[in-house]
Amino acid sequence: QTQDSEDAVEVAERILAELMRPVRLGDNEIYTNASIGIAPGHADYATTEELLRDADTAMYRAKAAGKAGYVVFDQDMYARARSRLRVETELRQALDNHEFRVFYQPIVTLEQGRLLGFEALIRWQHPTRGLLSPEEFLLVAEETGLILPIGWWLLHEACGQLKRWRQRHPGAHSLTVAVNLAHKQFMYAGLPQQVSESLRAADLSADGLHLEITETVFLENPKAAENTLRKLKALGIVLHLDDFGTGYSSLNYLSVLPLDTLKIDRSFVRDMQENPKHAAIVRTIVELARDLGMETVAEGVETVDQLRMLERLGCHYGQGHLFAPALDSDRVDKLFDRANLELVPAGEVGPEVHAGALRAGLIKRTRDFFRRV
Ligand code: C2E
Ligand code: CA
Ligand code: CA
Repeated sequence: QTQDSEDAVEVAERILAELMRPVRLGDNEIYTNASIGIAPGHADYATTEELLRDADTAMYRAKAAGKAGYVVFDQDMYARARSRLRVETELRQALDNHEFRVFYQPIVTLEQGRLLGFEALIRWQHPTRGLLSPEEFLLVAEETGLILPIGWWLLHEACGQLKRWRQRHPGAHSLTVAVNLAHKQFMYAGLPQQVSESLRAADLSADGLHLEITETVFLENPKAAENTLRKLKALGIVLHLDDFGTGYSSLNYLSVLPLDTLKIDRSFVRDMQENPKHAAIVRTIVELARDLGMETVAEGVETVDQLRMLERLGCHYGQGHLFAPALDSDRVDKLFDRANLELVPAGEVGPEVHAGALRAGLIKRTRDFFRRV
């Protein structure tokens, strides 16, 4: 119990100085040290446990900074710890109260503007803060491990939804849904089991489900990652490598692992018109994928010029605001109800589609098609 943190710091320094002196144990000299966390008490604390918890947080900071030191728990650490704790508690409630939503962003073939399927993107319908994007809660979900039950729920939901669409709408029988896997989810040993269970529960064939992982999964434990990928592949799942080009740089795994698709990160697509280096990266990714027998999806296609350039480079699929943002499932349903005609499977359009003028018409039609909803 001290008056303020200056007193506490003085005490901490005295303790550290005292501990620096060796202790004699028989013929040996023993050295000890300590890492000290200091939490100044104030009125916001309701219980001693909270105060101790913050002192603990500061102590771990001290440990991380090296041995024999002290750290005072400050307002910044306080604010961060508070907001984290609040989000964690709310995330638990959100699961119980069914506050998560899945939005679906169309992925289209660039050449014909046809619908391949959707990427499932999570949202949180927060009771007071409105619809939250994944940036606002996924990090805490990952750190706390809550991403496992949340991801599990999403996988079930997306598989079930796709099955309903496939059954309900003529022309939708070959659509796919791509689900993102967080690092922790991918490393979870029960994942392949969960995936096949989700497929079974939805009575969905494995070719309907695509899974998206990022290169970071190969960093920590490449052997385990490879094992998981092979198990997923054995189930018949299509595997996408997300945000390609932004992470791990070893390309060797591309030749070894059973990956089907490279997703070109939005950061390259965004300015490839003005930035020749990014244009070169996009071109190289498309060529690399082609040579390895893989397909490419460009993320974040926003302009017709980007679309034209990607198409010229030979990129297969695109997703982005040019076509449609992520839509809630009701809007996708409406889209199907009004636009059955355009959902005939790819391949049923004649070769005349390749004529430039008609293609421009198709681009317009695709855009109008999604705008109608
Ligand atoms: P991502 O996997 O790269 O997803 C693409 C993001 O780009 C989505 O953001 C999408 O809404 C946004 N986007 C698509 N087209 C455009 C465009 O033309 N312009 C712009 N400016 N943005 C576009 P979102 O939905 O906010 O998701 C952000 C990230 O959160 C995702 O990036 C993904 O890493 C993660 N995420 C989303 N849903 C899930 C999920 O269910 N599980 C996991 N583990 N991660 C998820
Ligand atoms: Ca993704
Ligand atoms: Ca991305």
